[in-house]
Amino acid sequence: MYKIAIIEEIHEEGIKLLKDNPDFEYEIISDVSENNLIKKLPDFDGCSLRIASLTSKILNNCKKLKVISRHGVGYNNVDLEYLKKNNISLMITNNANQISVAEHVIYMMLTISKGMGSHDKSVREGLFNKGIINVVSFELQKKEILIIGFGRTGRALIKICKSFGMYIKVYDPYVKEKIISDLGGEKINDLDKNLKKADYVSLHVPLTAETKNMINISNLKLMKPSAIIINTARGGVINENDLNESLNKKLIFGAGIDVFEVEPVESNNPLIKNNRVILSPHSATWTNECKIRMAKLTIQNIIDFFEKKIDKSMLVKL
Ligand code: NAD
Repeated sequence: MYKIAIIEEIHEEGIKLLKDNPDFEYEIISDVSENNLIKKLPDFDGCSLRIASLTSKILNNCKKLKVISRHGVGYNNVDLEYLKKNNISLMITNNANQISVAEHVIYMMLTISKGMGSHDKSVREGLFNKGIINVVSFELQKKEILIIGFGRTGRALIKICKSFGMYIKVYDPYVKEKIISDLGGEKINDLDKNLKKADYVSLHVPLTAETKNMINISNLKLMKPSAIIINTARGGVINENDLNESLNKKLIFGAGIDVFEVEPVESNNPLIKNNRVILSPHSATWTNECKIRMAKLTIQNIIDFFEKKIDKSMLVKL
């Protein structure tokens, strides 16, 4: 019998896979404080993980742990060096969430471009269309979007942007020009030069030493005052203080932010009070369809691991 910790609740459809399997028992752990995880995790053979952090201090006590299954595709919340040294496998829900994230980018682009709820507000406040003439609102058609990072999500996003009639530039030094042009984009090599021209910028890179603060005040200053930037990748890829400053100084028009340097977001984060930014709580994947896909795949990956029939595309090379 394998004992599985479900760290932070996931959709019932995923949990059902363990309930129905006599070889597994599970416990849901909602208190993800370091102290609680240090106390609870040593008992378990495997775990699922959403956004809580698994530090080496926690993992050091988990002598039985063989597999961590991420509910998602990013894994900057796990100490990878520790996993490698201690032969703990890491799995992800490959291909389960890019559609929801790409649609969330479009939701944010449209919300900002169409006046951040001003139309709805003017009806409810009894003004009808008086004053609506002053609302700044943009079309997406014929605008240029710069997609930074062209993996699963970047490639899902380009298809939707094409249907809006947008011009698409792509910055990803690790992806061949042909892959980008076959999907209707233009590969660019000079990020700063193209930030100057973009109407929309959307980030889809992992958080690494190379991408940390890749958007900061020095390149935000280069952008058009009408530009809109969206981050659904990872907090820290955009420097939050610099973004806040650039919005306040009207260096750019607006921003959409789903991910934060510290999560849950802290109450003193300046973006919370900035009405030129639309925020969401790392929830781009929380559509009904995606919640079910991710929960099922997260648990299936654990079962497959112990039954020795893993899908290699789900396994992270450490
Ligand atoms: P992916 O691994 O499929 O693609 C990432 C791409 O980034 C790759 O093509 C890689 O070549 C590129 N890249 C790496 N370093 C780069 C750099 N310095 N400059 C430009 N490109 C670079 O990942 P994905 O599934 O598309 O996800 C992208 C990011 O979005 C990840 O960080 C992931 O954690 C995050 N994400 C967030 C959510 C959410 O809920 N908001 C959901 C899914 C993914």
